Amino acid sequence: MKDLNQLKTIVLAFGLGILLNGCLPTRIPKSTSPSSSGSTEPTRDDNLALGNPSGASVSDPNNYLMVKPEYVLAYNQSRGIANWVSWHLSSAWKGDSRRTNDFRPDATLPSGWYAAKPSDYTNTGFDRGHLCPSDDRDAAPEENAATFLLTNIVPQAPKHNRETWKNLEDYERQLLPNGNEVYVIAGTWGAGGTGQNGYATTIANGRLTVPSTLWKIIVVLPTGSDDAARISSNTRIIAVNIPNNQSAADKPWRAYVTSVDDLESLTGYDFLSNVPADIQRIIEKRIDGGNS
Ligand code: MN
Ligand code: MN
Repeated sequence: MKDLNQLKTIVLAFGLGILLNGCLPTRIPKSTSPSSSGSTEPTRDDNLALGNPSGASVSDPNNYLMVKPEYVLAYNQSRGIANWVSWHLSSAWKGDSRRTNDFRPDATLPSGWYAAKPSDYTNTGFDRGHLCPSDDRDAAPEENAATFLLTNIVPQAPKHNRETWKNLEDYERQLLPNGNEVYVIAGTWGAGGTGQNGYATTIANGRLTVPSTLWKIIVVLPTGSDDAARISSNTRIIAVNIPNNQSAADKPWRAYVTSVDDLESLTGYDFLSNVPADIQRIIEKRIDGGNS
């Protein structure tokens, strides 16, 4: 009996040791990074650290800069939707907050501008599709609620939203536990998409444009600081452009990969403008299939 108790103690101590070690944050060796900081703990960084792709400002109604703690957005008054949303994602943004589902008008739009309301989407055949996803901002209820502001929402074909686009969102988050942080820029292009009720160029009596495509750029970095300066010719960049229709979901998001250069030609924006031009030239022409 005494031997058994001793054995139990040993097994318990051993198991506890494994458990405690498993709880320690993974340390990524810093030797490959030029960053001077010694810390590799995930932090929250500037949502616009890689640059303002369209030169959005508060003086241009169709390229109107909206800076929120959770993301930065360029709103287009004549389209009634965002041109793009940019955000940083690391595990420092993640938590256990529940999805608030608090879709509501964005009260920070200038007075006199139309602010979309939840009922604008009712019976249109289009989902209220997030640009910055709910699951990327769940550390606190108010942070999650910010993703439900209707300036961050676009009319999106339901199958596009719930399958292809969602799988890409899940992929972004799966990069985090492997010692990465990411920057994401997501936006809209064109007019005319096909939802559950067929083709439409606008909803809500013309107030909200239905985009033709939703595009996204994901920049993957090992956790660290001084991020724009760490982007090198080897940095992974995943770019996609996915048509806003139901049949988009017939193929996985990997079927829609493209280059940043192609998205720059399409939109007229300059992505990653805070990255040195010689590095942009190299990495913006690359097509990453998202296989690693
Ligand atoms: Mn969605
Ligand atoms: Mn660029």
